[in-house]
Amino acid sequence: MVEIHKTTCCYCGVGCGVLVKKNRDGRISVEGDPEHPSSKGMLCSKGMNLHYTVMDTSDRLLYPQMRWNRQAALQRVTWDTALERAAAVFKTFIDKYGPDSVGFYASGQCLTEEYYVVNKLIKGFIGSNNLDTNSRLCMSSAVVGYKMALGEDSVPCSYEDIELADCFLVAGANPAWNHPIVFRRMEAHKAANPRVKFIVVDPRRTDTARMADLHLQVKPGTDVVLLNAIAKGLISRGYIDEHFIKNHTEGFDSFRVKVAERDMREAAKICGISLHDIHQAVEYIGKSKGFISMWAMGFNQSVIGVNKNLALLNLHLITGHIGKPGSGPFSLTGQPNAMGGREVGGLSNLLPAHRNLADPQHRQEVADFWGVPSLNPKPGYTATEMFQALKDGRMKAIWIMCTNPLVSLPNVQLVEEALKAAKFVVVQDVSNRSDTLAFADLVLPAAAWGEKTGTMTNSERRVSYLNKFNEPVGEALPDSEIIVKFAHKMGFGHAFNYPHSAAIYDEHVYLTKGTNVDMSGLSHERLRTQGTLQWPVPAPQSEGTPRLFTDGQFFTTSRKAQIKTVPDDNQSEALSDDLPLVLTTGRIRDQWHTMTKTGRVNKLTQHLPKAFLEIHPADATERGIKESNIVVIQNGRGEVQVPAKITTDIRQGVVFLPMHWGKILQSNAARANNLTSDLIDPLSKEPDFKFAAVQVTKFSKP
Ligand code: SF4
Repeated sequence: MVEIHKTTCCYCGVGCGVLVKKNRDGRISVEGDPEHPSSKGMLCSKGMNLHYTVMDTSDRLLYPQMRWNRQAALQRVTWDTALERAAAVFKTFIDKYGPDSVGFYASGQCLTEEYYVVNKLIKGFIGSNNLDTNSRLCMSSAVVGYKMALGEDSVPCSYEDIELADCFLVAGANPAWNHPIVFRRMEAHKAANPRVKFIVVDPRRTDTARMADLHLQVKPGTDVVLLNAIAKGLISRGYIDEHFIKNHTEGFDSFRVKVAERDMREAAKICGISLHDIHQAVEYIGKSKGFISMWAMGFNQSVIGVNKNLALLNLHLITGHIGKPGSGPFSLTGQPNAMGGREVGGLSNLLPAHRNLADPQHRQEVADFWGVPSLNPKPGYTATEMFQALKDGRMKAIWIMCTNPLVSLPNVQLVEEALKAAKFVVVQDVSNRSDTLAFADLVLPAAAWGEKTGTMTNSERRVSYLNKFNEPVGEALPDSEIIVKFAHKMGFGHAFNYPHSAAIYDEHVYLTKGTNVDMSGLSHERLRTQGTLQWPVPAPQSEGTPRLFTDGQFFTTSRKAQIKTVPDDNQSEALSDDLPLVLTTGRIRDQWHTMTKTGRVNKLTQHLPKAFLEIHPADATERGIKESNIVVIQNGRGEVQVPAKITTDIRQGVVFLPMHWGKILQSNAARANNLTSDLIDPLSKEPDFKFAAVQVTKFSKP
């Protein structure tokens, strides 16, 4: 007898459907769910190996552990002891230093229900907005871009638009490795329709770029110059939709004047590509009937991430390629539930259902619903600000859920100093492979994928249900249950009486009623029995909304989309004679984040088992570096030592390090974020992971 459980992959924002098969002796296998509309039965290498992460429990955290002081070892304690201590410490700091002395740092891998309860606890009851998540490192530039241009954080497209488009602009993304099932759909579409054009913008010739009709291998940080030049070309050749611009947008006239100022030849020179290639991009986009742009971290993780997003959105607004089948801007979320986190307001400047903390009416609506007099109007610390606040003593305690900041945040030296300076650190995680655990005063074991129920929303606004098919190991608990128990210990039990995660979800969707994100027609029961749906889903009879803005009405006050004129200069740190190379960081095909899950699956580690530095042959020769030589990459923040991989796939003057490795899986010498910059986008507060000034030398023994 084999049990079959429908669920959703817990890695990237494609959100593939998974069928988990469990036989009588508990053995698990996985396969793609042919009925899931996003993935149609496909899974990538990470998804196909999910069962190994479930069956191997050797590295799981099994029970709460606590240390009484920093010198003491962690000791096993009961849940009651652990959460009473946490509550006592939090209350002490709140009483003495105010609610902003504590905070939570969560993850785009949390389920929507988990996000909801932690957001409610800190913003509604503790009285601080210090909840931020690693989604700040991932999608916050896209969030701000959508809000400024479209009036709402709203991805207009569906994956079904892939098969309807005839031109793709993939910018700052490598879906071949990072969103493989989306990429497979694109590849199959192009194979069946050779007229479909692919334009890829990336300083690296990735596997995505290899299949492009046009690879624009730009210098890092020049994307806005490129996009404005393409816009200028579209305007001058009459490839714009004047009717759409007139009736559905504002801001075109000043935009046209601004982009006309930059000479196309000069733009090509700044970007480091040929003028011919810019003209070619203009022709491909201008002649297309369906134009989709896709982007990810190469755009978002930038000190000018919002400007890059706005410049890209402008291409859609001037050509009218939005709200139509096969057309639209399509941000690819890195994490499985970055979208769900945004829906519940799980960032330090947001409130549930995409409400804004800055809006007094929004604050009061949420306060009334939660049954509290008011909400604190002061924005909380964002991800990097939170660790800075710990370091300089403004924050005393942090609760880290489901993420590993000691590897994943930029300039991790600062993170380490912050965790040392913190008076109390709680780490709530699944396995003992998080480097951050070394600084925990309290370790809380969380249930893993398959051990809890809940929902996630993928990049196309599709909400999927995650089934439970295993009991949590040891004493591990679902993250939402841990936070609810903690809320009770803090004395807020009256507002946190949830018999199950479905009740949390009901509360969340009720709060969305009447908003642009209305999903009040959803429930666990409906998602479990009827399958996935795309929001808005405003009623139980609603079948969801595959495409937004089909009527040309946007979420802005005027109902018109905003064409924003943005500066095109890069604000990243300057290169110099001492630090002449640009370091960019990113993912590899078979690993996920800091490898706490994928790093223990042999089939996945075989692909690229160790960290490496991609460097152009000219840069290597200039430094006497040969293939596989150990190189030292350094700047004023730190250094990394890894073998060199010499390749023409990367632009001269640029080097690439994968971001996955930390101490537990290799050594701190392989940790890319030893080098990354503290700079953040001024609006989105997203870090500039894709541009750090470094020097590279051949390692020599002292
Ligand atoms: Fe999972 Fe993403 Fe791979 Fe799909 S594409 S199986 S969601 S990692």
